[in-house]
Amino acid sequence: MPEQTTGLAQDIDPLVRRLLAPNPSPFTYSGTQTYIVGRGEVAVIDPGPDLPEHVDAILAATAGERIAAILCTHTHRDHSPATRPLAAACGAPIIGCAPLTLDDDGPRADAAFDTDYRPDRVLAHGETVSGPGWTIEAVATPGHTSNHLCFALRENQALFTGDHIMGWSTTVVAPPDGDMADYMRSLDVLLARDDVIYHPAHGEAVTEPRRFVAGIAGHRKMREGQILRLISEEPRAIPAMVEQMYRGLDPRLFGAAGRSVLAHLLDLEARGQVVRDGEIWADAR
Ligand SMILES: [Zn+2]
Repeated sequence: MPEQTTGLAQDIDPLVRRLLAPNPSPFTYSGTQTYIVGRGEVAVIDPGPDLPEHVDAILAATAGERIAAILCTHTHRDHSPATRPLAAACGAPIIGCAPLTLDDDGPRADAAFDTDYRPDRVLAHGETVSGPGWTIEAVATPGHTSNHLCFALRENQALFTGDHIMGWSTTVVAPPDGDMADYMRSLDVLLARDDVIYHPAHGEAVTEPRRFVAGIAGHRKMREGQILRLISEEPRAIPAMVEQMYRGLDPRLFGAAGRSVLAHLLDLEARGQVVRDGEIWADAR
């Protein structure tokens, strides 16, 4: 894990500061990274979990400046809950991804969602927010969640990738809201762009974006190939596949790995390549 302290904003370049929240975990790596864009009049991207010490750190880092916009890439609990105390403290509007209405809040719904998120303005793909010296454009990237946005900082050719692209691991795509076909299409969206750097919400900056994204797409194809190979040997349930596919994985991540395998299977099912009988998946080719 790289040396990085919570509580103090780090200058990344003249327009961008990064502030690490104190929420490390097997899912968040060293924690959620909040970004502050601009000087004097700023935007705050992904204020993070509702931890008073992190909200205080954002306010301290921007003391004497005006927060003009609070932006959110998506509504997982490590990204958006701090929008509310931050907006209450500084009066800035909450702008960005749509709120997520899950049609089922029973056992299928993902407990990690922030259902209290209420944006003042939702950004559609291509819409912008600007301040002195900065223009931030929304890039729709569904997949990790259905409402996920990346934010392009035009002046820097930089992209804030949220959890779509992370600097330390491949992202989790967990059905029912996460969707592998959408995720792969959203990788193509990034490959068609000319960003020179990515600033992810978790992990280090990515300095060769297209190569990195191509690597992630290749990794997903490899996982898909593994699944097809395993179920063509014999029909299997997901836990049996995870055991074969993720040797040496932190046991706390087995559940998430299973969700990603399910995401691949649902995508393969939609393409007519696999069939399901209860918990057992089989090759349909
Ligand atoms: Zn997330």
